[in-house]
Amino acid sequence: MFDKSLDNKIEMSVVSRFLRYVQIDTTSDDEGTPNPTSPNQWDLANLLKAELNELGLTNVEIDEYCYVYATLPASPKIKTDAISFLAHLDTSPAVSGKEVKPLLRKDYQGEDLAYPSNDDLYLKPAECPNLLDYIGSNIITSSGDTLLGADDKAGIAEIMTALAILQEIPAITHPEIRICFTPDEEVGAGTAHIDLHKLGKIAYTIDGGELGELEDECFDAHSVKVTIKGRNVHPGKAKNIMINAGKIASEFVSLFPEHESPERTEGREGFYHIRNIQGNESEARVDIILRDFDKAINIQRIDFIHTLSEVLAMKYPGVEIKIEHSNSYRNMKAILDGHPEVIGRAESVFQQLDISPKRRPIRGGTDGATLSFLGVPTPNIFTGGFLYHSLREWIPVSSMVTAVKVIVGLANIWAD
Ligand SMILES: [Zn+2]
Repeated sequence: MFDKSLDNKIEMSVVSRFLRYVQIDTTSDDEGTPNPTSPNQWDLANLLKAELNELGLTNVEIDEYCYVYATLPASPKIKTDAISFLAHLDTSPAVSGKEVKPLLRKDYQGEDLAYPSNDDLYLKPAECPNLLDYIGSNIITSSGDTLLGADDKAGIAEIMTALAILQEIPAITHPEIRICFTPDEEVGAGTAHIDLHKLGKIAYTIDGGELGELEDECFDAHSVKVTIKGRNVHPGKAKNIMINAGKIASEFVSLFPEHESPERTEGREGFYHIRNIQGNESEARVDIILRDFDKAINIQRIDFIHTLSEVLAMKYPGVEIKIEHSNSYRNMKAILDGHPEVIGRAESVFQQLDISPKRRPIRGGTDGATLSFLGVPTPNIFTGGFLYHSLREWIPVSSMVTAVKVIVGLANIWAD
């Protein structure tokens, strides 16, 4: 499907798009109200709308919440169901995305990389051994004072380039393709206003990391808010009267198992994460998030929190402990296991392109989890980048080219 001259064409297209998109600041705002949380996301949405029109897609629109939708009509005689590709417009508020100055570093030779806008920053193979897999490649970094924004502008550039290739080469047949670029993914609101009617029957998010990532599993995620009400009086007259809510809160969190914390876990291990403790004698609050791949284990963790509160209520008569719990997102594997062809076909495309799949569970969430539970099975595919949400974020150009081919290959495989 792909000859060498096409490789060069893909590279030029995906790189120029990527460099253009990352220079638009689309940092989302975790304090802002969605739709979208930061006004600059409209700038990228508007640019993409113009480019999608230029590419000849139909139904190109930006809706009132800043979602970009577009349709690539099916090849003649192809009657299979529409599929979707998604990527997100925003970048993480964890690191500045203002005035990103991307650097294309040609023919990387394994050296430590310095940054023109940050004398103290280096990207070193000693700290990021993956660099050594890309010796001889062109890689892109920021100039050192911002993130790069490959998460997820690489995903957008790869989808846009794949659309250009499909338009240019009609011999690569495909079903109808419905594109969606979402705002506010990084602040957990990427699917808040998504219109499922505008998506295909199945979808892929292009929002993973290094080459080969193919993800059908994410955390099962809960949040728990504990409110402790005590009783305050003058400390000089407090004997047998004061109930110190702040002190009880600190005792409460000290009883969580240390080996089940984010800083002690990896791979498939789950955890309790204390996100916030605040309070005084009268009232204290503890915010906890729970993460695991196995929902049943999270339910046990919720039971444990209830048991702790009962024990403390017995130890400190008069204290009031209220526990509120909500499910943030679920492990999409439960849904994707029921649609094995969605991952299976992606694996076939990887095989055609000689990519060894990296099937790691996502230690976090993805828009695809929400979409999967809403009825659109949506695994996640690599963009090619590394060290997302940091100043050292980087992406090899060769992986972006391969991601474009994966998208084109997926479009083609769903024509049958
Ligand atoms: Zn992302």
